[in-house]
Amino acid sequence: MEQRFHTGSIALAERMSRLGTESAFDVLVRARALEAQGRSVVHLEIGEPDFDTPAHIIEAGVNALRSGQTHYTPAAGIPELRQAIAEYVGRTRGVRCEAERVVVTPGGKPIMFFTILALVGPGDEVIYPDPGFPIYESVINFAGATPVPLPLREENDFGFDVAELKSLVTERTRLVIVNSPHNPTGGIIGAAAQEGLARLAVEHDFLVLSDEIYTRMVYEGSAPSVISLPGMLDRTIILDGFSKTYAMTGWRLGYGVMPPGLAEQVTRLVINCNSCTPGFSQLAAVAALTGPQDAVETMVAEFRRRRDAIVNGLNEIPGITCRTPAGAFYVFPNITGLGRRSGELADMLLNEGGVSLLAGTAFGQNGEGYLRLSYANSLANIEVALDRIARTVEGLR
Ligand code: PLP
Repeated sequence: MEQRFHTGSIALAERMSRLGTESAFDVLVRARALEAQGRSVVHLEIGEPDFDTPAHIIEAGVNALRSGQTHYTPAAGIPELRQAIAEYVGRTRGVRCEAERVVVTPGGKPIMFFTILALVGPGDEVIYPDPGFPIYESVINFAGATPVPLPLREENDFGFDVAELKSLVTERTRLVIVNSPHNPTGGIIGAAAQEGLARLAVEHDFLVLSDEIYTRMVYEGSAPSVISLPGMLDRTIILDGFSKTYAMTGWRLGYGVMPPGLAEQVTRLVINCNSCTPGFSQLAAVAALTGPQDAVETMVAEFRRRRDAIVNGLNEIPGITCRTPAGAFYVFPNITGLGRRSGELADMLLNEGGVSLLAGTAFGQNGEGYLRLSYANSLANIEVALDRIARTVEGLR
């Protein structure tokens, strides 16, 4: 009989004991509770752009609703969106990409869930970045596979070391997950590391799940994709979407690009789970990809200003050092000089300082010694937060 554990009087399936969570949502609840008591809190915990969805995209969504796009759509996405995504990915990653490789989902997150469930199970090993997005490890465990953390180190600008990756690969390695630009550190995987990864993938016959959700948010150079390298088109699953690039988190709109046979299997999971992604969201996505891109450029320019302000401000606080991240909208300052554990400091900053942010350990063991701050908030609020952080940590050293 299946082993069970309980929540209150309800017995749960054993697999639920293996499912993790994303603590940004928990911290947000705690911050909101403080606000409900009248406390002022600056929100630097949640990873979503504070901009509105560009007007022409909203217009396309509203028009779609008005014209009756309120029914089920094909499970893998409407043909015009799959085609627009295939062209976009083909153009931006320099690969041949047919629409049959594309599966549209409600957000990019289901691509993690569905591809991991489709590809691995007990006995398989999956290498994932640590620190990294917490859902990778959670879903690997949920699928019954073994998670193998790949350390990302500050001295390596939060990139991975190819020799270290190689040392973790075994004959059981089925999948390697990478994320560039990276949440939580803002690091970008450079060309040499991507080439090393591709060589290992071909040599050891594993697949790569490349989470490229922040690929348009790059401030220095570019963020190459492993799919562009020889032998990788049929070994790579790209995860991308509209949440971050077009400030569309609430529209729930993402996609995966993968070998056609896997796309069919992931589509079966879509049919079993959510049937399809809302049609009006998909038509808004077509407008996002094919329409003017100036709103994205404006948003990225604003993020760059905030990045510079938050990095400079953090580096001025004794006991904190912060690298300048090349992408995404997060900073991952080193707080070891303050002599407090990450979790303890994050709690102190929320409860005493009124700044809501995340402990580095919310992203894995290697996040100890760091905090994660999202700078998807106004410059004025970032200045208030910096001031509060400086005052709260004064005297800790
Ligand atoms: N991947 C990473 C690294 C993320 O940080 C996020 C969101 O925070 C996602 C994927 C998923 O975003 P969504 O499901 O909104 O597309």
